[in-house]
Amino acid sequence: MKQLTVIAFLLISSICANAQDIKNNPGSNHGNKFEQLGTILPTPNEYRTASGAPGPKYWQQRCDYDITCELDEPNRRLTGRETVTYYNNSPDILTYLWLQLDENEHSNINNSGYQGSNFMPRQISEADISRYGGKIDKDREYGVNIQRVADATGKMLKYTVNKTMMRVELPQPLKPGQQFIFKVDWNYNIIERTKYGGRGGFEHFPEDGNDLYTMTQWFPRLCVYSDFQGWQNHQFVGSGEFALVFGNYKVAMTVPADHVVMSTGQGQNYQQVLSAAEFARWQKAQTATDVTEIVTLDEATAKEKTKSKAKKTWIFKADMVRDFAWGSSRKFVWDAMPTMVEGKKVMCMSAYGKEAYSLYRKFSTKAVAHTIKTYSKFTIPYPYPVAQSLEAANGMEYPMICFNFGRTERDASGNYSVNSTYSEGTKNGMLGVVIHEVGHNFFPMIINSDERQWTWMDEGLNSFCEYLTEELWDNKFPVGKGPAYKIVDYMKLPKDQLEPIMTNSENIIQFGPNAYSKPTTGLNILRETIMGRENFDYAFKEYARRWAFKHPTPADLFRTMEDASAEDLDWFWRGWFYSTDACDISLDTVKWANLSTDAPAPPNTNSTTRKVPVAKPQLNNFDDISKIRNRTDKSITFATDADESLRDFYWRYDRGIAKVDTTAFELTIPAFPAEPYTEGERFNIAGKKNLYELTFSNKGGLVMPIIIEWTFKDGTKEIDRVPVYVWRKNENKVTKTFMKDKEVASILLDPLRETADINTANNSWPAFTEPSKFQLFKARGPAPRGTANIGNPNPMQKEIK
Ligand SMILES: [Zn+2]
Repeated sequence: MKQLTVIAFLLISSICANAQDIKNNPGSNHGNKFEQLGTILPTPNEYRTASGAPGPKYWQQRCDYDITCELDEPNRRLTGRETVTYYNNSPDILTYLWLQLDENEHSNINNSGYQGSNFMPRQISEADISRYGGKIDKDREYGVNIQRVADATGKMLKYTVNKTMMRVELPQPLKPGQQFIFKVDWNYNIIERTKYGGRGGFEHFPEDGNDLYTMTQWFPRLCVYSDFQGWQNHQFVGSGEFALVFGNYKVAMTVPADHVVMSTGQGQNYQQVLSAAEFARWQKAQTATDVTEIVTLDEATAKEKTKSKAKKTWIFKADMVRDFAWGSSRKFVWDAMPTMVEGKKVMCMSAYGKEAYSLYRKFSTKAVAHTIKTYSKFTIPYPYPVAQSLEAANGMEYPMICFNFGRTERDASGNYSVNSTYSEGTKNGMLGVVIHEVGHNFFPMIINSDERQWTWMDEGLNSFCEYLTEELWDNKFPVGKGPAYKIVDYMKLPKDQLEPIMTNSENIIQFGPNAYSKPTTGLNILRETIMGRENFDYAFKEYARRWAFKHPTPADLFRTMEDASAEDLDWFWRGWFYSTDACDISLDTVKWANLSTDAPAPPNTNSTTRKVPVAKPQLNNFDDISKIRNRTDKSITFATDADESLRDFYWRYDRGIAKVDTTAFELTIPAFPAEPYTEGERFNIAGKKNLYELTFSNKGGLVMPIIIEWTFKDGTKEIDRVPVYVWRKNENKVTKTFMKDKEVASILLDPLRETADINTANNSWPAFTEPSKFQLFKARGPAPRGTANIGNPNPMQKEIK
């Protein structure tokens, strides 16, 4: 029906054809590992070129919104009116428009239902009714009530709701270059997010009787109409996120007078909605060099008790955004700090309740600043004037604003305060989620891929940049995804539990590893092991530059990465993104020959290597190649070194107390290629070399470079990197001869675990046994992210005492 279906069909038929080829040629050493992607990718056209860049006739639609809405807190209901201006920039004549009614995810009448009853509210219990003072009734309905759809003159328009999608029929066909203005009035009952799930809603705090609202997917929004898909109107069922159109927004939200509203865009009337003291702090914060509290903890805690009945209207404007979200609560402490990103001021801000105060006040806004600065280096300069992190016990992203988790423990007096402590897992989880969600500003908010079709295009690319950003926060940051060795457990799963990265969002079984970790790891392998940092970074930045404020597809990424780097990566896209193959390179045999024993002593070859002291590799928090390279790169300053206020108890703890075996040893890695020898020198040297003939087999299917660590009898080490193309003429077996000055004591493949080799038992000569599960347990790394330490005092409390 749509072009995408045709592409998917070609993909399948192409893979089948290749599988057929092998079957038809038993005994062949050729599958299709190094063949070009060919028809798997869509045919280039005038909208999208073969280089991966937007074509000369590239177009995309635009949609502007002017919205007024009111939050009825006692009834937990949102009522809104929007005026929508839709610009038809396509070459096509449109007879209808599709809008998304995401809140119907929670409707018991109009939900898309694919996920069964999980996404429908359960019956409201008697306890709920008394808890809300009888203000919600048993028949409370969820989902969007569309009250009116009319054109600019007020004439009613015909519309049809199909679950989470609404089709509005145009009174006249909308020609290319024309625009259409229409109005939608709507309302809905806000869902208790913490109880029923979903990305937006309210969280109730029984202790102080207040709510925290996260208003997301809260208004009828236009679907994307594109050159590659037509209307993207696949139903919203929960996993596959959003495909959205860029445009300008003006939003006025009326909320209880003591609420703080944090929103996409810039506030237009702070002087009217803030107290004189708050507004003075806001003005002072514009030029401050540190974090300033606009609304303090004392002020927020006082408002929790008084609960104003009056109302105020906040107004925000945002240009060139694909979505608009906001948070509202009287619980919010609000802080701000300006930061310069490539010559432009960005206001970094955070809002959080007292339950997160001591953690968010210290880290959140500075993590926001670190994130946009780091991402700007690897992609494009952050283009928006504001970047915000709100604590809402979840993790969800929108333009200029995101919602994160990370709450502290109670202090000695049983309250939340400046003295509240937190576990190391909570802190690292909080930093990780803030970096991740703020990072989503780039993927998909600016480099605007279709999340409903491809989760990996935003989550994978964003998780990769999150990884780079965490690594630059602190060289000891326990990253969750990125290093190749961390994906091994997933890659070694049986084939029937795996699907390729190139799988539609709704069809993924292992969502986290497939759409987040595996693409992240793949990009990291490209950067560290296959392309090199400089070449990779240039090409990745070019992809971001080409597709900023546009709608990229996977082929645009694959093509750009090759076009900008002069690396043929089709083998990598084919293996890592289109297949479920794993890397398992086996060192099968080692043969040794000494050419001469009476030759003169070899020249000093030390000048071709440099020694790098590294910590002894740990099993679960391995000192991987990225950490080593970052530590030895003099141009890098970690955030916790640049700003010592970011060092807390755990930073010192990690450095002072030997939690891990830090016995240093010398690792010799090749520095720069040696000066070429003259023919005479070569003849002399060859006479006294040791020759080693190594045979490797590819047991996992995935082709990868072969990385060989030689340990010589005198204890020194050397690493050889054999490019992946060694497998080109035989994808199954390779024999290669190496010449060494010194006699080799042992050989280890992939010593820094860069290739996600799923079986290290066949990686060494002489063979050694892998550590047992018991040893793995003993060598355990830091606490997992977000680990709650309830009832189990964290070590930070001891220091406070
Ligand atoms: Zn994400």
